Amino acid sequence: MKTDRRNFIRTAGLFALAGVTGLESLFAAYGNDTIRTSKKGLSLRFLPYELQLQHVFTLANSSRKVTPDVLTRLEFDGLVGYGEASMPPYLGESVETATHFLSSLDVSQFTDPFQIDDILLYVDSVMPGNTAAKAAVDIALHDLIGKIMKQPWYKIWGFDPSDTPNTSFTIGIDTPEVVRQKVAEAAPYKVLKVKLGQATDRQMIETIRSVTDCPICVDVNQGWTDRVKALESIFWLKENGVVLVEQPMPKTAVDDMAWLTQNSPLPTIADESLQRLPDVLNAHGVYSGINIKLMKCTGMREAYKMLTLARSLDMKVMIGCMTETSCGVSAAAQLAPKADWADLDGNLLITNDPFSGMQIVDGKVTLIDRRGIGVKVVKKVF
Ligand code: MG
Repeated sequence: MKTDRRNFIRTAGLFALAGVTGLESLFAAYGNDTIRTSKKGLSLRFLPYELQLQHVFTLANSSRKVTPDVLTRLEFDGLVGYGEASMPPYLGESVETATHFLSSLDVSQFTDPFQIDDILLYVDSVMPGNTAAKAAVDIALHDLIGKIMKQPWYKIWGFDPSDTPNTSFTIGIDTPEVVRQKVAEAAPYKVLKVKLGQATDRQMIETIRSVTDCPICVDVNQGWTDRVKALESIFWLKENGVVLVEQPMPKTAVDDMAWLTQNSPLPTIADESLQRLPDVLNAHGVYSGINIKLMKCTGMREAYKMLTLARSLDMKVMIGCMTETSCGVSAAAQLAPKADWADLDGNLLITNDPFSGMQIVDGKVTLIDRRGIGVKVVKKVF
């Protein structure tokens, strides 16, 4: 009797988590008799795995050919959930910090993976920062739970997979010749994302416009410092088919940014000025929308809360990523049906992806009806 009551409470909590729209499939897939607990707790393994980039990647103030990454495996009762921490150097995490963080965790104390809040609150409490390393655990836990429930997360959340947006494909700062070549390679994509923030900004856009009419998102990566010049640039960009401007000014320029957003003919999106859930409130009234990235916000659970909060504040939402394998990108893609824009091309920029998952079909983020975060291993690395 006591067990029945516990199962009922756990199941009811799960349904509250899933929301109302996902309930039918949940009922079909998940009855009280299938709830798994084990005397043996969760088991976590990890492996440093350097991502090889196809092109040298240039931002407003750095360039690189590899991205440090750590892959994770969370095991429970014979099932495995996969996760990853991708750590572009400018965000302050490294293979050393991530492996130190993951080594310090004791997840074996948890014998029920459905205690999502308890598990992730514990992971978050062990050390401050380390958001990518925390995301590596969060993603693996979501993958594991989806596999136990035999459902992909977009279904558990009750999202319609046909609502996903097109993804943008990123064109880095480069010479006109290389930019034209990169645009030609990006022909299958319906939206381009162009990195700005240097003296060559207008030349970049004119070069791209000489070869395609495709809509363009621009990411200035905090590169503009004068708000009046920034506004002039945004009007010029609008005339040239640009649809949004990401992080035009430094994250510290809050008043200038609020003025710019108020006067801008294009939506402005916060990226560097936003990391976790409380930052959404700070971005409200300063930017038109937010770019949610799992590696910055500690993973899928917080990303879902940020999306929900932003929507309740009538803000726009972009789902973004770092250079990542299909693991991180497919996890982020579970949220894409509720996003206005997706920037989920991170796995397309690397040459050694050990997973396959979310696909881009005719430029559109296309979710796969596969359990968990929807990935399968195509190259066994650990
Ligand atoms: Mg950005």
